[in-house]
Amino acid sequence: MTEEKISLLVIYTGGTIGMAADPETGALVPFDFGNIYEQMPALRRFDFKIDFEAFDPLIDSSNMNPSFWIKLAGMIEAHYDSYDGFVVLHGSDTMAYTASALSFMLENLNKPVILTGSQLPMGVIRTDGRENFLTSLEIAAAKENGIAIVPEVAIYFKNELLRGNRATKFNAERFNAFVSGNYPALAEVGVHIRFKKNSLLKPNFKKLKIHTKLDFNVTILKLFPGISENVVKSTLNIPGLKALILETFGSGNAPTDAWFINALDQAIQRGLIVYNVTQCKSGSVELGKYETSLDLERIGVISGYDITTESALSKLMYLIGEGYTREKIIELLQTSLRGEMTID
Ligand code: ASP
Repeated sequence: MTEEKISLLVIYTGGTIGMAADPETGALVPFDFGNIYEQMPALRRFDFKIDFEAFDPLIDSSNMNPSFWIKLAGMIEAHYDSYDGFVVLHGSDTMAYTASALSFMLENLNKPVILTGSQLPMGVIRTDGRENFLTSLEIAAAKENGIAIVPEVAIYFKNELLRGNRATKFNAERFNAFVSGNYPALAEVGVHIRFKKNSLLKPNFKKLKIHTKLDFNVTILKLFPGISENVVKSTLNIPGLKALILETFGSGNAPTDAWFINALDQAIQRGLIVYNVTQCKSGSVELGKYETSLDLERIGVISGYDITTESALSKLMYLIGEGYTREKIIELLQTSLRGEMTID
């Protein structure tokens, strides 16, 4: 009996990776994936079947919004049973937001969803897109005893596979554009692809369930020395606002001014969910460690532990969209649902 070939679906959303020079004008235009085998003959050497789908229109990822996440999750669901893995070509600017959102939207994911992109267009000689793309295909196809090695949403960029909801874009120029400050790489790539089995999520073999009822009444307030009462109060009083990510200093600290604490307290008493996420790229919120976070703890600000802002944003959209009670949302915000946070 011959084994079935591994099949992969590549979904091209837009971004730098898909650009090539127009033969006539020399300007960068979206790459025609219809001709991909002519452009990248190396693809023929893979022993798997690769199909392509593209967004129409293609978007720079700065134009990414939750309706595209819903479209993407829907495409993955529609093709879930027909493919062994998925590679999503995406601009790097908001890739960490999309990866985080997909991780929450795709419950019981047992197949790889690998997001990748590049800093230099595919059509440029020194492109990093070629390696990122080819390795992402290999990762999406990787199995052990017939089971996907990476049953989760991940970002592959410059020799590192990172958990999608742990990654942040931190470099606009270098090929290693992403960092995962609170969780180790899921794989390191050199001559070999070395998967870190202890860091990867395990498949649960349950049926994929997608969640698309996102609630967008969420915002982010980044603290800075000198933030004014007007800015804080205006943000807290945004009509319809249901949750606020408070980007705090260090291990979750904030000013102790009475006007600031009282404004937050009143908003929380009105029902606003305030989620404390540190501005640091590494480390965790520890409410009560310093005097400057004691008040936050007392008035009911919720600790985001070591979650990234990108992940916190889509987690809130997802939990509120699901229609959970306030108590349940608060409980789940302090629970790791898809490996997005570490709670000691
Ligand atoms: N602006 C581009 C985008 O995010 C940059 C990139 O592709 O890396 O779509």
